[in-house]
Amino acid sequence: MVSRAWLSDQQKRRAARIAREKGLTCPACGSSEPVPEDKARTHPGGGADIAIRCVDCESASEMTLVLSPEEAKALGLGHALRGRPEDP
Ligand SMILES: [Zn+2]
Repeated sequence: MVSRAWLSDQQKRRAARIAREKGLTCPACGSSEPVPEDKARTHPGGGADIAIRCVDCESASEMTLVLSPEEAKALGLGHALRGRPEDP
């Protein structure tokens, strides 16, 4: 099961920074100014992914920023998982 979490402006800025650190660039124009979408998808294992748009070409090309559980937690997405019955 995948759930969704809305990102605050601060979380989006952090996500953009992580995307740049990972070297995520637009496949269409090569821009490295990724703009995270408003929503993250969080995975039961603790990771998350965020759809990224390109600010330069605004094309339909979408990138996905995949976050490890640690990165998701650093973004403040981890606590959404607390209290889940399936957590060990
Ligand atoms: Zn682009």
